[in-house]
Amino acid sequence: ISDYWDVWNIHKHVYLLLFLFLDFLFKFLVIGNAGTGKSCLLHQFIEKKFKDDSNHTIGVEFGSKIINVGGKYVKLQIWDTAGQERFRSVTRSYYRGAAGALLVYDITSRETYNALTNWLTDARMLASQNIVIILCGNKKDLDGDREVTFLEASRFAQENELMFLETSALTGENVEEAFVQCARKILNKIESGELDPERMGSGIQYGDAALRQLRSPRRAQAQSVQECGC
Ligand code: GDP
Ligand code: MG
Repeated sequence: ISDYWDVWNIHKHVYLLLFLFLDFLFKFLVIGNAGTGKSCLLHQFIEKKFKDDSNHTIGVEFGSKIINVGGKYVKLQIWDTAGQERFRSVTRSYYRGAAGALLVYDITSRETYNALTNWLTDARMLASQNIVIILCGNKKDLDGDREVTFLEASRFAQENELMFLETSALTGENVEEAFVQCARKILNKIESGELDPERMGSGIQYGDAALRQLRSPRRAQAQSVQECGC
């Protein structure tokens, strides 16, 4: 037990330090038909293991993780539909203010692939026009039962300006990559000025480190306005 507390205490400090250096916080969604493996993808990303059916009832609804992308610390706050998608009643409040999304289908089920257009319309309409979406063809490990080819899905992704990966929540292949690639694209868009983190509902918040950088020039700007008296 004492070993356990030592480990926790070290982790606590590392976590606190990371929080101080946090650059951004992004809200992420995981969307797609029921049964495509959304909860398993979230679980694999956070816990680095496959969520087997024995703890199926727990149903992850929310998870967060700090990742390092090109030297920047980003906290991802990830929302899972928590079963709402079964009743086609994923609410507006779920989508509101999301910066990124994993759009998931199952490579062994054409039905889940055919539903992608509807999910995409909802995401672009209810989240934000600028939401960065990565298409994930999940259950890559079940290649023998495949109903959707890689080529077909990558064409769909290209036509709809989505990034694309085939993933496996079972083996963990490409799971971390999917989240990281999506976060990297959002960061690139912030740096190029295409995305404005200060716009309401952008799904992006500054972390402590970015705020400290921002505060000083802001104050200077405010002062110069006062001095001019216009
Ligand atoms: P959700 O409804 O989209 O959240 O789907 P779940 O995460 O609950 O997964 C649905 C079913 O697919 C479960 O039985 C999982 O064990 C299974 N599953 C999820 N991901 C994978 C995967 O990558 N490979 C395989 N073989 N099965 C998976
Ligand atoms: Mg689920």
